Amino acid sequence: MKSENIYKSFGISDKVYELCDEAEKHIAKRSEEIDRICEYNQLKVIKAMQDSGVSEACMLETTGYGYNDIGRDKLEEVYAKIFRTEDALVRSQIICGTHALTVALSGNLRPGDEIFSPVGLPYDTIQKVIGISDTRGSLKEYGISFNYVDILPDGSFDYDGIRAALNERTKLIEIQRSRGYSDRRTFSVKEIGELISFIKGIKPDVIVMVDNCYGEYTEFTEPSEVGADMVVGSLIKNPGGGIAPVGGYIAGTSECVANAAARLSGPGLEKELGPSLGNNRLFYQGTFLAPNVTKNAMKAAIFAAAIYEKLGFEVSPHPDDVRHDIIQAITLGDADKVISFCKGIQAASAVDAFVRPEPSPMPGYDSDIIMADGCFISGSSIELSADGPLREPYTVFYQGGLTYEHGKLGILKSVQSMVDDGLIEL
Ligand SMILES: *Cc1c(COP(=O)(O)O)cnc(C)c1O
Repeated sequence: MKSENIYKSFGISDKVYELCDEAEKHIAKRSEEIDRICEYNQLKVIKAMQDSGVSEACMLETTGYGYNDIGRDKLEEVYAKIFRTEDALVRSQIICGTHALTVALSGNLRPGDEIFSPVGLPYDTIQKVIGISDTRGSLKEYGISFNYVDILPDGSFDYDGIRAALNERTKLIEIQRSRGYSDRRTFSVKEIGELISFIKGIKPDVIVMVDNCYGEYTEFTEPSEVGADMVVGSLIKNPGGGIAPVGGYIAGTSECVANAAARLSGPGLEKELGPSLGNNRLFYQGTFLAPNVTKNAMKAAIFAAAIYEKLGFEVSPHPDDVRHDIIQAITLGDADKVISFCKGIQAASAVDAFVRPEPSPMPGYDSDIIMADGCFISGSSIELSADGPLREPYTVFYQGGLTYEHGKLGILKSVQSMVDDGLIEL
């Protein structure tokens, strides 16, 4: 076959290429459902754009204060429709997911309030925002406390522990949908809905914020449709479709979004200010493509799971599992394999393929991290990428690939890299 020959030009041996067949059978099993989710979400996005009256003028830019930016305002209307919320904040001025979560938290909390996580410790960078480890400017410095309960060893929610932890100061519940870099599983929207119902049954006035990073468009519904007051994420992950060059979103109740906006711009300024610069068209195109890009990333993740499970490594989720995010965890067991894996992914990139990634400290993270991200958008993890914190049990987290074919090439290169480095034998 012609395509097999071209893999040789990437240094992929016949033995490595032969792993594809079985992996693609796993994808075929899950394809029908993933394709249907994509179809539904694609139409949901188009409907939201049509119903908001998106026009050619929305693609233009504003500068300076950014008053009357119709493209920006309409895009926020589109997001509110997609996420079925009252309002949304979708801005170039939000740098990343951590920033979006910082704005959502600090805008909606006041001194004396408590944040509670019913699903264990949050993502590394959010621990710093909250002030779990002492960090300059953390919410802790503003008199906001934090409490959490872990999920139970069988992966279910600790309902008794949650009931006991809720108190009169509990103001905001943070639920992280995706596993992030942790060893727990990712929650489905249905499970998140059950958890929210339980908590609101005890404390109806609490604000529920879902860290939606990596989860968008992987299911038919979003957490904001099952009781979350705010969903928050990054545009250089799923919802930016690989096109948004920066940005984050907060979709939720009018009250929550206004509070967040007052923090992002300034009290009294709220959503009125904020130039879109040249990003409106990119945001619209990214939003339009996002369901499809997410589909490709999910298929690439299944491919990775199938191949690495076959090679005898612990993978999570398993190839046949129903997925609720785009992350694939592969436990490689030692630092050399993590580094070699990332080297392989990097070598498959269209940009910076000649770069050799090295482990290094990253702002917001405690252990050294090795990252493969030969990306069009710096650090974009909806593009073909892998991150491995260099700590036990040496798990690498693979995600993205704007196209399935690119994800497939990346995974084959990661295997080939470990074969070439003498770390695995086929
Ligand atoms: C990526 C991510 C974040 C935010 O990370 P940024 O790199 O700041 O965009 C937060 N939570 C989870 C679960 C994530 O995956």
